[in-house]
Amino acid sequence: MALDEIAARVRAAEDKAGRATGSVMLVAVSKKQPDERVEDVLKAGHRVFGENRVQEAQGKWPAFRERFPDVELHMIGPLQTNKVRQAIGLFDVIQTVDRPKLARAIARVAGEEGRCPDLFVQVNTGEEDQKAGVSPDETDALLTLCRDLGLPVKGLMCIPPAEEEPALHFALLAKIAARNGLDQLSMGMSADFETAIVLGATHVRIGSALFGERPV
Ligand SMILES: *Cc1c(COP(=O)(O)O)cnc(C)c1O
Repeated sequence: MALDEIAARVRAAEDKAGRATGSVMLVAVSKKQPDERVEDVLKAGHRVFGENRVQEAQGKWPAFRERFPDVELHMIGPLQTNKVRQAIGLFDVIQTVDRPKLARAIARVAGEEGRCPDLFVQVNTGEEDQKAGVSPDETDALLTLCRDLGLPVKGLMCIPPAEEEPALHFALLAKIAARNGLDQLSMGMSADFETAIVLGATHVRIGSALFGERPV
């Protein structure tokens, strides 16, 4: 199945980059995919998945989790503050912290719930108006706030602009992470994950190359 081929390509890119085998985590992006395709990937043994909407994830993952309890679920889409409690109950990792208000809401609700997912700060490396993420020059301040709030920020995430050379954006994300002492980078999707791995990705988010095109 495609999972074997993608896993082999991830291993080959790790090798080419001189990175340790298994140092890159494959996040299988199951948004909008039919349940049968997700189930096939679960049955093949994969356990790390990404969803971009709380509502959609809530609709399908509790049932899968009953059968596959060791699933690790990553939130990779924009998060509204009024969905924070639901997100904290559902996700093991939230990759899309991108503003002070959201950081404060996560800190408050995590305190009340007594648990907090691991967090990534999403950086809008292309400074696109329509895209979520904190701008590169406001990232250090947001990370400082997160630290002051005691939040478990593990790394940075980005989605490069569609028409630009992704390598420049991956390199920028790596640079911002390094100067903030963060060693995890969520970058690279179906079309560019090998480039991302060479530039230091620790998490690649792969949807269509793994499951097939998303139905519209
Ligand atoms: C949909 C999505 C992906 C996966 O995209 P593909 O091109 O299908 O691999 C990765 N990251 C985010 C944030 C997404 O929304």
